[in-house]
Amino acid sequence: MIVDSLDLKALPPGRHHFWLNLLPNVMGGRTQVPVMVLKGKERGPVIGLTSAVHGNELNGIPVIGEIFDKIQPENLKGTILAVPVMNIRGFMQNHRMFENQGTTQGKADLNRLMSGSLKGEVEEAEFYAKALTDKIVKQCDYIFDLHGLGFMGKMKSYIIADGKHPIAWKMAQACRPEYICETSDMQRIGNLRSEGVKMGIPTVTFEIGGSPHAFEYKEIEKAKHGLLNAFFTMGWTKTNLADLKLISSKTKVIGSYAGNHTHNDGGLVELKTKLGDVVAKGQLIGHLRDVFWQPIKTLYAKEPGEVIAVASNPVKAPGGGVIYVSEPKREIAHDINHGANSSERVSGGVG
Ligand SMILES: [Zn+2]
Repeated sequence: MIVDSLDLKALPPGRHHFWLNLLPNVMGGRTQVPVMVLKGKERGPVIGLTSAVHGNELNGIPVIGEIFDKIQPENLKGTILAVPVMNIRGFMQNHRMFENQGTTQGKADLNRLMSGSLKGEVEEAEFYAKALTDKIVKQCDYIFDLHGLGFMGKMKSYIIADGKHPIAWKMAQACRPEYICETSDMQRIGNLRSEGVKMGIPTVTFEIGGSPHAFEYKEIEKAKHGLLNAFFTMGWTKTNLADLKLISSKTKVIGSYAGNHTHNDGGLVELKTKLGDVVAKGQLIGHLRDVFWQPIKTLYAKEPGEVIAVASNPVKAPGGGVIYVSEPKREIAHDINHGANSSERVSGGVG
């Protein structure tokens, strides 16, 4: 069904699919996004699940689909409002960015434009982002924005959440990811998470896997069960549908991460570290070689920490990313037998 707006209150309990008109397109028709609504039998908050704000980060799409298959309206207290593809233009072109059409042209990162206001040089992407904010984001009481670091290749899934926002932090923790990246959203502009938090909507970013243009089934499964555990922990489902054995029994809290790049050199990277390794500062992480397989230079870790992302594509122009490392600040221990309680403690860190 095609609609101009979503009237969630008027919908009966159950599952609904819509094409939502966002704004006029170059043919005088409408640019639309797909919307899924699961309305519970009991009243409660609107929980937003958004995916593919970056059009080539696809893991959130099956996560949403499987959550909709798993939760029955009888079990749900509230409404799930999901948009499996937020960035229609990027998705249809297999691209991270939103491609403006008509005379504006050029590519824009939607996740820098989600302030919901129009300012500066207004291009189509800003109108599109504002329409998404007005018609979707503002209807939600909570949001999980599903991404995947779509340019590295392989990475640990993690959630980004504001450490000073107790509800957003609880949402992140309840998903029991291997890592939570602690951030401060009041200082950030334009991404869906920070703009959501500023609007009073607790919002977290779930980075699911690291391969663009792919479904990473193991990461999809973990994210699905993590979200199901969060739904129960937050009081949105009556029973816990998560299999706690499939998600982490502890979560490491990290801050920023350090990228190791090829700097001013280009070539082929022969990597000597893998995802999850713990590296010391100055440790050898790989070799940069030319196409005749002759060494150009040895690559060393800039900072100590755990390897949370590695590039799968060895071909590097100057400035190309090789690995990202981060040192955990503390650990959160989860009760593997129960869905709700977790305790946070300061660990000694690694390295
Ligand atoms: Zn993304």
